[in-house]
Amino acid sequence: MSIPTEPIGSVPRPTGLIQAMQDAGEGRITAEALAAQTDNAVRDTIEAFEATGSPVITDGEQSKPSFVTYPIDGLPSLVPEGVVIPFADGHTRQLPCLSAGPFRYQRYADSYLIAARNHASVPVKQAVIAASAMSLLYPADGIEGYARETFLDDLVGEVSTDIRRCLDAGAHAVQIDFTEGRLSIKLDPSKTLLRDFVALNNRVLENFSAEERLRIGVHTCPGGDHDSTHSADIDYAELLPDLFKLKAGNFYIQLASEIDKARVLKIIAEHGKAANRIFVGVIDPIDPKVESPEEVRDRVLQAADFIPLERLGTTDDCGFSPFADDVSTARETAFAKITARVKGTELAAQELGV
Ligand SMILES: [Zn+2]
Repeated sequence: MSIPTEPIGSVPRPTGLIQAMQDAGEGRITAEALAAQTDNAVRDTIEAFEATGSPVITDGEQSKPSFVTYPIDGLPSLVPEGVVIPFADGHTRQLPCLSAGPFRYQRYADSYLIAARNHASVPVKQAVIAASAMSLLYPADGIEGYARETFLDDLVGEVSTDIRRCLDAGAHAVQIDFTEGRLSIKLDPSKTLLRDFVALNNRVLENFSAEERLRIGVHTCPGGDHDSTHSADIDYAELLPDLFKLKAGNFYIQLASEIDKARVLKIIAEHGKAANRIFVGVIDPIDPKVESPEEVRDRVLQAADFIPLERLGTTDDCGFSPFADDVSTARETAFAKITARVKGTELAAQELGV
């Protein structure tokens, strides 16, 4: 099959693991007991992932507390009252807030990748969080003795290290989760915040060679949590031209849940650079219905009308549970949807003769 297909990252955790994470957080079980539970979940997830036929897999982010907080879990200089992210269904998530410098990651994502590759027999990709998301940790009124500019320098260094270590550990690809791109336009319709985010993420990407960037991608979506989104009401036309200013090789773009896909594809075709591979979302993790392979095939064929085949790939619109405690989708449903993505992409490739 010559149309590449990759997942985004997360798969719902088994309930036993979610309980163990909570118990470990509250001191009821040891770190060793949690590590054993986590390793079991990673092994089971990789086995189920490989059974879908997906040529590239992830560890399902089984051990991440969330796609955004994994590097800062346990950082002592955090206080709870950070930026609040409201979702369309009324629920919110709140980021912590930094109270002192220097800013240092507590964990790099290559630790997940190395554990996953111990169990996997196919290539594994690794998702990391964007510098722009982490920049929201710095309080609006500043930190005495730790200037915002110093924080951003530290941050760019840590995110670059996170990516570098994943590339060195043999990631098939490294995906930067940039779900706050679309959200930023909601927070600041002037797009100053979006452009600051793009510039900050480019400071990270500029630390990599053109060849390395072929293995680095950016994921965009309207956020996904408890089967709801935070910025689906923002028009893609507002985001995409600036998104493609990011100096990444690959783009993983939520599309299956868009109402007017042709319109979005047209904008992608117009603004995507010749060197970019575009992985279009052909599976909607929020839709409880499992897509049929034929439905996926038709979505790929539609995308192929706009994006040259040598630059086209497929993906899921988003992870299936970016936050560890999100059990709105069953594991079986997630794997059935991933299977449909793989089969449907194969059907499209056959029809297109590639
Ligand atoms: Zn997403």
